[in-house]
Amino acid sequence: MDQNLASLLYLVASVCFILALRGLSHPETSRGGNRLGMIGMAIAVAITLAMLPEIDFVLILAGVLVGGSIGTAIALKIKMTALPQLVAAFHSLVGLAAVFVAAAAFTNPAAYGLGVPGQIGAATLVEMSIGAAIGAITFTGSIIAFAKLQALMSGKPITFPMQHWLNLGLGILTVLLVIWLSTAESSVAFWGIVAVSLALGVLIIIPIGGADMPVVISMLNSYSGWAACGIGFTLQNNLLIVAGALVGSSGAILSYVMCKGMNRSFVSVILGGFGGETVGPAAAEEGEKTYHQGAAADAAFMMRNAEKVIIVPGYGFAVAQAQHALREMADLLKAEGVEIKYAVHPVAGRMPGHMNVLLAEANVPYDEVFEMDEINRELADADVAFVIGANDVVNPSARSDQSSPIYGMPIIDVDKARQVFVVKRTMASGYAGVDNPLFYLDHNMMLLADAKKMCEDIVKALDQ
Ligand code: NDP
Repeated sequence: MDQNLASLLYLVASVCFILALRGLSHPETSRGGNRLGMIGMAIAVAITLAMLPEIDFVLILAGVLVGGSIGTAIALKIKMTALPQLVAAFHSLVGLAAVFVAAAAFTNPAAYGLGVPGQIGAATLVEMSIGAAIGAITFTGSIIAFAKLQALMSGKPITFPMQHWLNLGLGILTVLLVIWLSTAESSVAFWGIVAVSLALGVLIIIPIGGADMPVVISMLNSYSGWAACGIGFTLQNNLLIVAGALVGSSGAILSYVMCKGMNRSFVSVILGGFGGETVGPAAAEEGEKTYHQGAAADAAFMMRNAEKVIIVPGYGFAVAQAQHALREMADLLKAEGVEIKYAVHPVAGRMPGHMNVLLAEANVPYDEVFEMDEINRELADADVAFVIGANDVVNPSARSDQSSPIYGMPIIDVDKARQVFVVKRTMASGYAGVDNPLFYLDHNMMLLADAKKMCEDIVKALDQ
């Protein structure tokens, strides 16, 4: 294929990727964004294949069929609540691919047009080692993130003395190995970089715990992009460099947004060790504290007589798949003249945009859905705050209790509403493992039930 035509089509694919990111920034345009991303990727794959001098289509087709079938089967089966761990698992594969490509290029440079063994250019070796290092960190880091999110290992931070110094030492060792590799093309140096980076991936993620996991997911997303970008340099494929850089930088921006949403410094989260210490006393004190418990009829009565109700969904809302029942409840209230608004915290649920996706699925109008910053101003005017399956994101101890692991994280100020209802099944803590003083406030009523069931019961009560 003509090189100029290929470059032009690569440019078209890059524009598709950029427009895809733009589309994905809003639920209303996200489907279109997704489609553009798929078109861009189809162009990218087709052009890359067309440019290869000799090609075994049977092998490629077999790879596409096997990979595509596994991907489709997983996508059809996966529950929405398990998406974060799936994303982490997929990131690990991107990282592993980067290591494999770098290893293949290092051992057989001629196949990649990078010269013969022993005479690979220094700049190429640096690119290769960066791709391999980021890939290896992404690989093991993502596996640890997967294990934490899937509860295969404790979500609590794992720390030990001199941890930061060890990480720093390994970071410096990696740089030294890169210098050794680029000057002597030593295979010991190459595999040393891979081994040290695999260890670093584990060490970077194990100290991050509790409520800080959202940042880990977006951070690994960013790493996987940079790993792909590194492979792009090794393979001398401009589109892969562009696509990798887009994923890398958008992941970095997302990490920044998540950190801002949680009032965390990005560097502190990367250095790890905060945000996850489960606070024991909270659970122990549980029995001594008193709380008001209500039933569906109480909530129906109060909300029917309210002027403004603000609904705050959280992870339990996703677990219960309560979106359609909630929408039905909101519709009945609106029919009675109640103003309904939805408040979405940036880290509610288990993945960025989790609540927006569920609300969109139930066709909740976008103009009723508000970000935390916008809605917090209105909570003092709300007659009712209806918290459904949310816990950490409405925990007032984040504002005042300096000993709380979520201290400093901005929350949705539901306690400022005249009446609060919290729908959850038990008095247990949320993801960060801390007790929630909101539950024991005088103007709060616990509605202890499955979120979907409770919405259905409220709908029945409203119908009467
Ligand atoms: P939380 O995890 O803090 O709380 C969810 C609550 O839902 C639990 O207390 C649970 O209580 C309740 N629940 C579970 N199942 C049901 C059900 N079927 N019906 C009703 N209630 C149910 O959720 P939030 O959304 O408030 O906060 C998200 C947390 O997750 C934050 O700490 C965030 O940092 C973290 N996180 C977020 C990620 C993201 O990207 N958004 C990624 C990883 C972590 P009970 O068992 O008593 O019912």
